[in-house]
Amino acid sequence: MKRKVTLTSKILIGLFLGFIFGLFLKSMPSSYVKDTVIIGGIFKVLGTGFTTSIKMMVVPLVFVSLVCGSSSMGDVKQLGRIGSKTMVFYLSTTAVAIIIALFLGSVLKPGVGLDMSSMMSGEVAIGESKSIVDIILGIIPSNPIAAFANGDMLQIIFFALLTGVAMSMIGEKADPVRKIFENANDICMKMVSIIMLAAPFGVFALVAETFSTVGKDAILVLVKYLAVVLLGLLIHVTLVYGGLFKLFTKQKIKPFLKKFTRVAAITFSTSSSNASVPASMEILEELGVGKTTRSFTIPMGATINMDGTAIMQGVAALFIAQIYGIDLEMNQMMTIVLTATLASIGTAGVPGVGMIMLSMVLTSVNLPLEGIGLIMGVERIVDMFRTTVNVMGDNVCTLIVANSENDFNKEMFYAEGAEKVAV
Ligand code: ASP
Repeated sequence: MKRKVTLTSKILIGLFLGFIFGLFLKSMPSSYVKDTVIIGGIFKVLGTGFTTSIKMMVVPLVFVSLVCGSSSMGDVKQLGRIGSKTMVFYLSTTAVAIIIALFLGSVLKPGVGLDMSSMMSGEVAIGESKSIVDIILGIIPSNPIAAFANGDMLQIIFFALLTGVAMSMIGEKADPVRKIFENANDICMKMVSIIMLAAPFGVFALVAETFSTVGKDAILVLVKYLAVVLLGLLIHVTLVYGGLFKLFTKQKIKPFLKKFTRVAAITFSTSSSNASVPASMEILEELGVGKTTRSFTIPMGATINMDGTAIMQGVAALFIAQIYGIDLEMNQMMTIVLTATLASIGTAGVPGVGMIMLSMVLTSVNLPLEGIGLIMGVERIVDMFRTTVNVMGDNVCTLIVANSENDFNKEMFYAEGAEKVAV
């Protein structure tokens, strides 16, 4: 019997081949064919074409599914409950993530023994960090159309929730509009499945491009920093996510992990939480999570829940303190926990923003911002991994909240072959 290869397997094959091919290209001398035809041409079209198609779906999908989810909630209180459970999960796991990072950074001391003066890389571009008041006020869109056009997730979430809640409050009168939104939601999900068929090629090109351009020397110099961040991410995933999932849902985690590889391939290749929203929605639907929960927790998580980023920031702060020979006191560590938690809320789910927000964390404890230049060398690789953890947190939270709200179909969770088989 001929076995059909699932989409997840195809994406993983693309990921692996991209890694091998990227390293191979890296070892080749510069030439017109390598730089212009392959990297600047074929990879660009496949990779950017794929990412742009996914991004195209983010705003419509988030808006439509969130309106559907919140408007079909019989009682508005349920939304409040889901909202508060989600916020508690997101904020507390982020704080735990930073504590793990600070612990590992203090014990393993990745910065000790590094000669910082010889590694200074000159100019460092630091972006602006926002104040907490700006972050809060920034949630309310003065013009919803502008929020859509700019893809401002928090503003879109705010507007969608208000729309959905209002629809739910006027009851039957809103039924025709609700029907339209539900149909639109089905159409969006179908569009996502169509785009995902191109994922194996897109992922291949994105990963190959990254590994053909990342400097190997920088990786070697910063391997200790990288190792500590990766260890922190691994501990967080196994202990915190694995533990909380088991504790609250009492289910086996394997069916989730199997499907999550599909999302991970996207986060790994795009380094963007936002870009992973459609894929997360798709696997959670297959895993039996209802629209009510996932339509809220996933876009919200992609916007404010960044545990992987927080781990990077904790380790990076200690790494920078160590290479500059600065001892951090307990109260400074506490300040890092607080500012990094807030920074993670303000970090947009796009590549590299976590590094910009690191400046806010460093400033809060007077660490030299120039230190950021040192870890820039491995930034892209760290971003791939931390984004994957960011998004895994959103998915685990969704499963836990859905389970507690009885918005979780366990038969679907364990159903083999629920995955859409690629044609
Ligand atoms: N790339 C991360 C994300 O999208 C954010 C960051 O840490 O830069 O989740």
